[in-house]
Amino acid sequence: MLGYLLARAGVDVVVLEKHADFLRDFRGDTIHPSTLEVMHELGILEEFLKRPHSKVFQAGGQIGDELITIADFSRLPTKCKFIVFMPQWDFLDFVTDHGLLYPTFNLKMRAEVDELIEEGNRVVGVKARTSEGPLEIRADLVVGADGRSSVVRKRAGLDVEELGAPIDVLWFRLSRMPNDPGQVLGRVMAGKIMVMLNRESYWQCGYIIAKGALDKLKQRGLEAFRADILSLATFLGDRVGEIHDWDEIKLLTVKVDRLRQWYRPGLLCIGDAAHAMSPVGGVGINLAIQDAVAAANILARPLSQGWVAPSHLQKVQWRRELPTRVTQWVQVQIQNRILGRVLGSSQPVAAPWVIRLFNRFPILRRIPARLIGIGVRPEHVKTPDVAE
Ligand SMILES: Cc1cc2nc3c(=O)[nH]c(=O)nc-3n(C[C@H](O)[C@H](O)[C@H](O)COP(=O)(O)OP(=O)(O)OC[C@H]3O[C@@H](n4cnc5c(N)ncnc54)[C@H](O)[C@@H]3O)c2cc1C
Repeated sequence: MLGYLLARAGVDVVVLEKHADFLRDFRGDTIHPSTLEVMHELGILEEFLKRPHSKVFQAGGQIGDELITIADFSRLPTKCKFIVFMPQWDFLDFVTDHGLLYPTFNLKMRAEVDELIEEGNRVVGVKARTSEGPLEIRADLVVGADGRSSVVRKRAGLDVEELGAPIDVLWFRLSRMPNDPGQVLGRVMAGKIMVMLNRESYWQCGYIIAKGALDKLKQRGLEAFRADILSLATFLGDRVGEIHDWDEIKLLTVKVDRLRQWYRPGLLCIGDAAHAMSPVGGVGINLAIQDAVAAANILARPLSQGWVAPSHLQKVQWRRELPTRVTQWVQVQIQNRILGRVLGSSQPVAAPWVIRLFNRFPILRRIPARLIGIGVRPEHVKTPDVAE
C-alpha cells in the first residue's frame, strides 16, 4: 500500500515480496471503513467494490446460548458503513494491479530480503535472494513492511518490547452450505472459543487455544477436537469429519509486540514489522494501512527531493504510536481478561452484564463500531497527487 501511494506521488518504488503470490490463508479478511475511506479518497473505491466480497453491517458473536451484537457500523461518519470481507490476497492483488499502472511502481515477487546494506550508521539498501540469483538494491529509504517475523527489524537491530499473548490460533477450513447461518464471527462456550469467517464456499475457522496447549489437545485425539468444534457450531453436523488429520490444521502463533523506535537513518518499519498485532478485533491489516497512509503523507515530498532525514521518520512514529498503543492495549485486555479466562475455565459461559448492555441499548454498539471501524486518529491521504 505504501509502495502504491508513493508511486502515485511520483516516487520511484521497488516492492520486494518473498513469495510468488499473495495466496496464503493466514492473513485475515477484514477491510474496515477506515481503509475503504482511504480507497474513496484515492478514487478506487467503486472499482474495489466490484471485486467479490461480502459486507458486514453489524458484528457480534454467540456467547453461551445468547446471540449478542456488539458493533453496529451503519452510523459511522464514513462513506462505507460496513466492513468488507475479502481474502487479503484479493485485496493485495487489487492494490498491486493499481500500483502497476504507474511507471514508478516496480514489484518483484520471489525476492526475499536477507541483509541490509549499510554505510556508516545509515541503511542505504537491501540484499535479497531471488529466483534469478542475489539482488542488491540501493535506496534513499528502506521500509520494513515484512510482518510480525520481520527480517528487516531484526537486521536493523531495533529494540522490541514484548506485550505477550496467552493465546494461539488453530486455522482450518470446513465447507459451507447455502443455508448455514450468515456472518456470526465469534462463538464462545465453556472453555472454547472459535471465530468463523464466511468465505462463501467454505468457513475459515480460527479455533483459539491457550498458548502451548496444542500438544494437550492432540493427546485428547482428533475425535474429541471434532466434538469441541461441533459443540460451538452445531449446524456443522458431520462436516467436522472433513478434518482427517492434524496436518490439515495450521498453528498460528499470536504475538503482540512493538518497536521502541521504528526507524534508523535510512530505514523505517511499519505495520506488523513495527508492531505485531493480535487477531483480536481483526484490526491489524487496517492499522498497517493507516501506517502506510501516514508514512506516504509525511515522506512523499522528502523522497521526491531525494533526502529523508531521521526527523521525517520520527514524525511517522510520533503520528502512529498513539493509535498503536491504544489498539494493542485494548487487544491485550481482551486477550487476558476475556479470552484467557474463558479458556482457563470449564464452567458454562454467560455474557457478562456489560456485554448484555449492547443488546439492551443498541445505541451503545456505536462505540465498538467506531473503535473497530475507524480506530484512533484515522489517516487521510494528503500526498501531493491527491492534495493538489
Ligand atoms: C490468526 C490471525 C488472524 C488475523 N486476522 C486478521 C483479520 O481478520 N483482520 C485484520 O485486520 N488483521 C488480522 N490479523 C492481523 C494481521 O494479519 C496483521 O496485523 C497484518 O497482516 C499486518 O500487515 P503487514 O502488511 O504489516 O504484514 P503481513 O500481512 O504479514 O505482510 C508481510 C509481507 O511481507 C512478506 N515478507 C516477509 N518477509 C519478507 C522478506 N524477508 N522479504 C520479502 N518479503 C517478505 C510476506 O510474505 C508478506 O507478504 C490476524 C493475525 C493473525 C495471527
